[in-house]
Amino acid sequence: MSGEKIIQYFRFLKEKNMLGPSYLFAGDNFPLIEEIIKLVICKNNLCNNCWDCKSVQNHTHPDIYIVAPKNTQIRIEDIKDAQNFLSLKSFGLGKRVLLIKDAQTFGLEAANAFLKTLEEPPKNSFIAICATKLEGLLPTIISRCRKIFLPYWEKEPLDFNLSWISLFFDGKLNFKERSELSSFLWFLTVIFRNFLVYKITKSEGLLFENKNFQANHRIFSRINNISVKELSEILETILKIYNASNNINEKLALNLLKTKFQKVNIF
Ligand SMILES: [Zn+2]
Repeated sequence: MSGEKIIQYFRFLKEKNMLGPSYLFAGDNFPLIEEIIKLVICKNNLCNNCWDCKSVQNHTHPDIYIVAPKNTQIRIEDIKDAQNFLSLKSFGLGKRVLLIKDAQTFGLEAANAFLKTLEEPPKNSFIAICATKLEGLLPTIISRCRKIFLPYWEKEPLDFNLSWISLFFDGKLNFKERSELSSFLWFLTVIFRNFLVYKITKSEGLLFENKNFQANHRIFSRINNISVKELSEILETILKIYNASNNINEKLALNLLKTKFQKVNIF
């Protein structure tokens, strides 16, 4: 289902008073989940104008409680706090929303405690369980929720330029979220792919698609010294890390990359 269809579906459920108490959202599309929560809370069914919509947008809505893994796991203490939150009356007369992020990281104890809430959700609550993938999620949780499979989120491309690569090698590159690491890896993939094409065909077209390339001699001359074989190996490594970037720690990903680059003396 497209994002628009999913919103329509929830709008229909809300209008018919048929909203379920809990949904499992599978996939990597947090902005869409936020839109759904806005729709659930907004008295005008997602107007983007009212206090409710704006507070959801600014992450300041008092009727939303977020649970996210701490140290890679959702802990039982967090679930107990969330249960307390759900038992209180709503601030804005609407629903109390519990949002669980990265639900695939539920600790067993926390998951068991949470099952009770899923079986008997407090009146007027809306529980959104978000998991980028269903693997690792307890079957008992999966089976108790309505499942919504989210379409892939077409992220706005970040404006990377070659100075990011310099920052990376100076150890100064930091990412606010994982999706930025993925974007950076994709940016590297394109740069190295273009270089590989240039090395093989001697055609500069693709290479200078990136305006900053000529200006950045530090990177240009160093990559230019790598052999075709090494370039293909680097590309392969970047793609491997890119494919695993949802599952590995950001620092580890950057270190793996750095090790590979050091091997071919780029930096
Ligand atoms: Zn609104």
